[in-house]
Amino acid sequence: MNDECLFCRIASGEVPANVVRREKGMVAFHDIAPKAPVHVLVIPERHVDSMAGVEGLTRDERADMLAVIAAVAREHGLEPTGYRVTANHGDDAQQSVHHLHWHVMGGTRLSDTM
Ligand code: AMP
Repeated sequence: MNDECLFCRIASGEVPANVVRREKGMVAFHDIAPKAPVHVLVIPERHVDSMAGVEGLTRDERADMLAVIAAVAREHGLEPTGYRVTANHGDDAQQSVHHLHWHVMGGTRLSDTM
């Protein structure tokens, strides 16, 4: 855990969040400023800065992360109509929180410019 990392503090429960799923070393919670009717973030409990640090997770964690992302989308009813999964790394992608997180977005027709 990185004490100065917001998402580590959410994962530990120190900072409140609207958690929708917690399993397999992953936490899923609603984005505080949703950009779609459904906008959930999926994070590994263990800190890595971004996709660039994904090798810092175990093979099981990497696999579980994808399974949890798919489960979150399914639970929110997004499978029939579709959804988008993104992970921002670095300045050009405008990453603002430096703890790996996946945006799971859907519930409307998403922009084709992303
Ligand atoms: P990114 O720009 O890819 O780093 O995404 C960071 C996301 O975290 C943004 O969509 C923010 O709205 C979201 N966010 C920031 N603080 C919180 C928080 N306390 N709880 C939930 N989501 C947050």
